[in-house]
Amino acid sequence: MAWYPGATKMELQPESDSQPAIRPTQVIYHSIAAPWTPQRTYEFWRDSTNLESHFGLGYDGVVAQYIGTETRADANYLANRRSDGTGAISLESASNDNHSDPWTPAQVETLIRLGVWAHHQHGIPLRICRTASDPGYGYHRLHSDWAIGGTACPGDARVRQFNDVIFPAIAARASGAPDPTTTAPNPAPTEEELMTPEERSWMDSWFGQLNAMAWGQKHDLAAQQATIDSLVKLVAADHDLDAAAVGAAVKKAVSEALAAGTVDVDVTVHDKTATTPPKAS
Ligand SMILES: [Zn+2]
Repeated sequence: MAWYPGATKMELQPESDSQPAIRPTQVIYHSIAAPWTPQRTYEFWRDSTNLESHFGLGYDGVVAQYIGTETRADANYLANRRSDGTGAISLESASNDNHSDPWTPAQVETLIRLGVWAHHQHGIPLRICRTASDPGYGYHRLHSDWAIGGTACPGDARVRQFNDVIFPAIAARASGAPDPTTTAPNPAPTEEELMTPEERSWMDSWFGQLNAMAWGQKHDLAAQQATIDSLVKLVAADHDLDAAAVGAAVKKAVSEALAAGTVDVDVTVHDKTATTPPKAS
């Protein structure tokens, strides 16, 4: 299971656990013909259909991941998983209702970054798929084997962007070459992209527990204490810190927040506030 560090994790069950493993060799971009946020797309996969993709991209460039990239997702027909175990990583993106609009600049940037990550993480070769099973990058309508009954997805404007901007930028940045589509220097990786999977999972655990506390609103002291203790152990072990000092700092911050009546943990940068609140303890 691989999770893109730049994405908000919204794990989709039962698909994430029940679908077979793949060795990803392709990246396929889609338009979902709806102006949806990643959260709305997650709810759609969860409640309405099982033709899910690995990723969902909003107009603002925020991306969520629903299934690890080494697990099959079902948006690409015969490319989902082939008999040799290879398959495609898929991404759905917000668009207008007939996917005739271009990707926004923020979407383009995320598509490039995700493509670069896929090259480094999974060795996706830096070329456009020449056949339906050829390893590389593509968009949904590129090969008829990728769509039951054919599709126009992701739309003409986005196909042009893929060919003129997105794929050339992926190829350049992934190989460390100057991006031919802009005179600006290649952007530095984000803090999240530089995280190891262990750090990312530690951070998810941290924000998850803080959110549980914020949403619970019960101020159950025993539960709080246990939460703080477990966080302190995580922090201390992960960063070689003095557990007592970290514990004191966390307890002070939490009790100050409680005293002020504002247990309001700002996690908007990771979009955790958009996920389903955990049940109150
Ligand atoms: Zn599509």
